[in-house]
Amino acid sequence: MSQNHLFAAIRSAVPSPGKKLALLADGSSVSYGEVLTLSARLAGLLVARGVRPGDRVAVQVEKSWPCLALYLATVRAGAVYLPLNTAYTLNEVRYFLGDAEPALFVCRPENAVEARVLAAELGVPCVETLDAEGSGSLTDAAAAFPPDFDDVACGPDDLAAILYTSGTTGRAKGAMLSHGNLLSNARALKECWRFTEADVLIHALPLFHTHGLFVAVNIVLLSGASMFFRAKFDPREAIALMDRATCLMGVPTFYTRLLDQPGLTPAATAHMRLFVSGSAPLLEETHRAFRERTSHAILERYGMTETCMNTSNPYEGERIAGTVGFPLPGVTLRITDPGTGAALPHGEIGMVEVKGPNVTKGYWRMPEKTASEFHDGFFVTGDLGMIDARGYLNIVGRGKDLVITGGFNVYPKEIEGEIDAIDGVAESAVIGVPHPDFGEGVTAVIVPAKGAGGLTEQAVLQALEGRLAKFKQPKRVFFVEELPRNTMGKVQKNILRDSYKDIYRRSA
Ligand code: AMP
Repeated sequence: MSQNHLFAAIRSAVPSPGKKLALLADGSSVSYGEVLTLSARLAGLLVARGVRPGDRVAVQVEKSWPCLALYLATVRAGAVYLPLNTAYTLNEVRYFLGDAEPALFVCRPENAVEARVLAAELGVPCVETLDAEGSGSLTDAAAAFPPDFDDVACGPDDLAAILYTSGTTGRAKGAMLSHGNLLSNARALKECWRFTEADVLIHALPLFHTHGLFVAVNIVLLSGASMFFRAKFDPREAIALMDRATCLMGVPTFYTRLLDQPGLTPAATAHMRLFVSGSAPLLEETHRAFRERTSHAILERYGMTETCMNTSNPYEGERIAGTVGFPLPGVTLRITDPGTGAALPHGEIGMVEVKGPNVTKGYWRMPEKTASEFHDGFFVTGDLGMIDARGYLNIVGRGKDLVITGGFNVYPKEIEGEIDAIDGVAESAVIGVPHPDFGEGVTAVIVPAKGAGGLTEQAVLQALEGRLAKFKQPKRVFFVEELPRNTMGKVQKNILRDSYKDIYRRSA
């Protein structure tokens, strides 16, 4: 082992040092050479600050191209990149720093004072700052280090990153991702999605999540492609960029927001070759509407922090709305009975389990949790799904979102599909909340379509009569202006369950 497994592959894919890697919002650009040089200087700085191979580098900063260089620098130094959601409060950061014990914490300049106090309290030896423009003590200090760095040798099993999972319930867990996990997955996706040097990606996802960091950035780097690098997704700007771009990777809300724009036309999207969606379910209706408006079939894929990407609809071949396609090369996927663990045949709903070079080594410092998430060498995703007759995987929802009412299983996605088809409904979320007779009561939370007044609980229940078995029909229907979502567009059903937890409680 004399090479740095991930970085050697990235370095050898650089088309030429002058090739533009990131096209920035102010019209300027940054080349591969500039990013690699800054990553070398930063790697030198990390070593000088005492970061050793295997040490964690925790990072909670705004998106910027120097932050990208910091990710590469950490990998080059053989250390472990630990990006944190910028929305986390200092109190939440306390947990991550305490759990991961990083050798260095890079924070936003405005948080520096509190971060230093926290670091002193938790024994984190070093704090540096980086702002949205890429300035701060980190890049100031890096300027004094050489433009070359002797990359630390790392094998496929060495850790490259720890990403804490959203952790909507219980303690957040740090998924340990190795060089081999990241490289194998990026290579598989590059092949499947036909990425080349000619590609220009619209990158408007955050850099602290697997989607924006590993799916998007690693594919671009391994293809020698370029990207429009934007701090936030602005649908109007995205449309304006499309005549110079080839691909967009987004969460489903990107696509619903694009559909709200009159500028989304066949002409505006003619230069684009690929629209990818993931991180949350894309409504079939969104897929259809996008196709009607642009003639592009959005390619939906499925993955998670712990496994990188697992499945994808085909590049060539039919991209079926409401499905997430086939296992990626090297990934084995099976559906099992959540009760007995026995493998289930196609057509039956069960737990999605995956195995392959993409799957995490486990959760940081949680050996028992890690052991309980593996089943005969397969990682238990926690998602319920079904493989249809053509071999496409359909995700039915998170296992913990399954509603068990009167002993019957109700899959929220089926009920949501029926509700969404009712006139005047924009979208819905179906949850189970404690019910004195049934254990859980099926409960629907509906966002009415814009301008569609007058939808009532009675009308929704009537529309579902005869379309769903009685036990699947919601016992109550509530209307809200919007569903609670996290930064990746996922509906936070735990928040809904909490809000409605007392509705069936018998009055004393
Ligand atoms: P995260 O670890 O934040 O990436 O979340 C992973 C979870 O997001 C998965 O376990 C799924 O529940 C969900 N997810 C990701 N992609 C899709 C998709 N295309 N369709 C449905 N759910 C998805």
